[in-house]
Amino acid sequence: MNFRGKIIKLFFFIFLACIFFNSHVVFANTNEKPEKKILILNSYHKDVKWSDDIIDGIKSSLKASDIKFDLHVEYMDTKNFYGETYIKSLYEMYKSKYKTSKFDSIISTDNAAFDFLREYSKDLFPNTPVVFCGVNYFKDSMLQNNSLFTGVVENIPIKETLDLALNLNKNTKNIIIIVSNSDTGKATRNALNDILPYYVKNFNINFTITEKFPLVTDNEELEQHSKDTIALLLSGYTTNYQDNIMTEKDGDIILNDSPIPVYVCWDFLLNHGVIGGKLLSGKSHGEVAGLLASRVLMGIQPSSIPVVKNSESQYIFDYKQLAKYSIKSTSLPNNSVINNLPIKSYTIPTQLIWFFVILIITLLSFLILNISERREAKAALIESEDRLRTLINTFPALICLKDSKGRWVETNKAAIEFFNLHPILWKGKTDKELLELNNVYIDGILKYQNFDNLAYKKTKVTKHTEMFKKDNEEEKILEIIKMPIIDSKNNSKSLLVIGQDITGLVKAQENKRLLNELVAYENLRTEFFANLSHELRTPLNVILSALQYVELIHENYDEHQHYSLDSYKKYTSIMKQNSYRLVRIVNNLIDITKIDSGYFELNLENYNIVEVIEEISLSVASYAETNGLSILFDTDVEEKIIACDANIIERIMLNLISNAIKFTDSGGQISINVYDLSDAIQISIKDTGIGIAEDKQASIFERFVQVDKSLSRNREGSGIGLSLVKSLVELHGGTIELVSGLNKGSNFIISLPVYVIPNKDIKLYSDTVNHLSSEEKINIEFSDIY
Ligand code: ADP
Repeated sequence: MNFRGKIIKLFFFIFLACIFFNSHVVFANTNEKPEKKILILNSYHKDVKWSDDIIDGIKSSLKASDIKFDLHVEYMDTKNFYGETYIKSLYEMYKSKYKTSKFDSIISTDNAAFDFLREYSKDLFPNTPVVFCGVNYFKDSMLQNNSLFTGVVENIPIKETLDLALNLNKNTKNIIIIVSNSDTGKATRNALNDILPYYVKNFNINFTITEKFPLVTDNEELEQHSKDTIALLLSGYTTNYQDNIMTEKDGDIILNDSPIPVYVCWDFLLNHGVIGGKLLSGKSHGEVAGLLASRVLMGIQPSSIPVVKNSESQYIFDYKQLAKYSIKSTSLPNNSVINNLPIKSYTIPTQLIWFFVILIITLLSFLILNISERREAKAALIESEDRLRTLINTFPALICLKDSKGRWVETNKAAIEFFNLHPILWKGKTDKELLELNNVYIDGILKYQNFDNLAYKKTKVTKHTEMFKKDNEEEKILEIIKMPIIDSKNNSKSLLVIGQDITGLVKAQENKRLLNELVAYENLRTEFFANLSHELRTPLNVILSALQYVELIHENYDEHQHYSLDSYKKYTSIMKQNSYRLVRIVNNLIDITKIDSGYFELNLENYNIVEVIEEISLSVASYAETNGLSILFDTDVEEKIIACDANIIERIMLNLISNAIKFTDSGGQISINVYDLSDAIQISIKDTGIGIAEDKQASIFERFVQVDKSLSRNREGSGIGLSLVKSLVELHGGTIELVSGLNKGSNFIISLPVYVIPNKDIKLYSDTVNHLSSEEKINIEFSDIY
């Protein structure tokens, strides 16, 4: 090999290396390990819009089919390099490059790749199905020995675009068709030979078919024919001054400067100065190819998938170019798409603009006025709210507004302090929630929630007191007013609660009451002691006087002198009587003290109470008679056994009878009756005496009370008799009541429960130790009576 031959060989290998590295993996499904390996054999180089769009379409169909794929693109670059030698060298290169590669499918774009695969696929990629697209001038015979081929034909809508162009440009006489001399270009020229005679014959059109783009150099000549000449750009981006491929930028300048309308058949040429036409879309074309490839990848035999021969196309136009050549959009075919439509603008009459300006200004003024008024109103509202808040906060009473569900909506400082709610967000919480959070007054609150419920139901104001107690703290008392706030339908919407701490007031009232009681008691005691000392002193004075008299008799005793035996008897009797009085007073005092201190014990035995009462009544009958009174005893039952202390019953009876004698004038009558009420026995001691005024009746059983308190009263007494009687009756489980009126006599009615001590004999009253047979007892109990 000579030096020149070596250089050529070196260049050839460098060239092959360039081609090799020009092919690369352009897409890989990143998420998953690819399952289907696909090779796209692209007739051209990268950045050819048509074939790039086709690849986009293929990808979108494959993605939609959910097939996991690994896509490789091999660029044949036949726009730059062509000829048999080149194709052969590609074959050599692919043979070494894909020696070990196995693809699940190959997709070819455009004629060069299709033709290459028809020739070499069996050798390079044996048994690999091929899906072709972008193939012009397809004939079924092309697939005679290629059963693994299917695909979609690229039918260039030349005829449709020519018809459209002639329709839009009625004066057309010349049509310049730009078509390259590439393989595709040559095939296009063949197709044109079939189409053009029709137009020559029917429309008398003069066609110029040229490889070079004439629109720059021949501009002046073209301008002369601009009214009757149009162009159809099919392929060949070459200019007539340069044999290189025209770039998009160059194309833009040339086409934009063109004095005649240029029609095209592919959408990728739009927006570069052409009018438009019936356009093929690379993306839609690729989508069809991708769809066919996905079917092949799913295992369908290519021979059973028919070749798609009708490629989709659409009327698409550039508005700017339509305007440039005064073509109305109304004359375009139905369903045409117009790009770059201008944004519509309207001319509005000046008066109308002024009208709206004034209207807007007026409305704005109103709005501003309104806003400022509202602002003022709001400020006034805030001020008034502040005032109100200050007012309720300075109010010493507790104020709380609750909603219909008992949740706190508003409150004041006094309430917050009373319930110790400082650290708590009280708004929207119920009493229970609040006080549980704070752990105070929980018991009280639960109790008083019932009052809330009642208040909600009412339409009137309710008032009551509520008491709150915290551990180790004094009870607090609130006077509470609950006022339901009702809506027009009389439903309670909320509840206003106002509480006033009246703990101090109540305590003061209680203290006052206690003080009054104490004063009254002290008065009573003072009275009692004054009375008692009078009671004690009187008999003592009488005794002392009588004793003096008896001593006098003794001192002056003279055998010869007669002294009056009667006088002696009289004075000793006076001394005795008054000694009894003293004994009685002392007895009563002792008993009362015993009862008060709980040491008084009954000696209960089973007695016939009728016999006991009758015996007592008989015993005192003669005594009463000496006072000019008669005693009548009557009973509706002969025998009634009850458990009682006969000595105490005696004390009760003698006390009441002595009072009856004391307060009944001579000639009166004392009736003693026993009534059997089955489970109770009733004893009535009724006199016809002075009676007791109604207003005094309630207090006569109280200790130290006498109706006539004057020391100069007619009747003697200590004011403890009835109090003692009541206590003694009650010790028996009975009651005592008085029926009387001033000057209507008095009737003391005792009721004793009928109760028998089991397994105990009935005791006879006459067998009772100290029973009334001893006259001394009567003397003692009746010692008040003179
Ligand atoms: P006293 O020892 O003064 O009689 P009592 O407690 O027995 O005390 O009686 C209290 C007062 O009740 C008497 O002072 C008298 O005013 C009135 N009283 C009691 N019994 C009668 C009665 N039978 N008739 C009228 N007044 C009576």
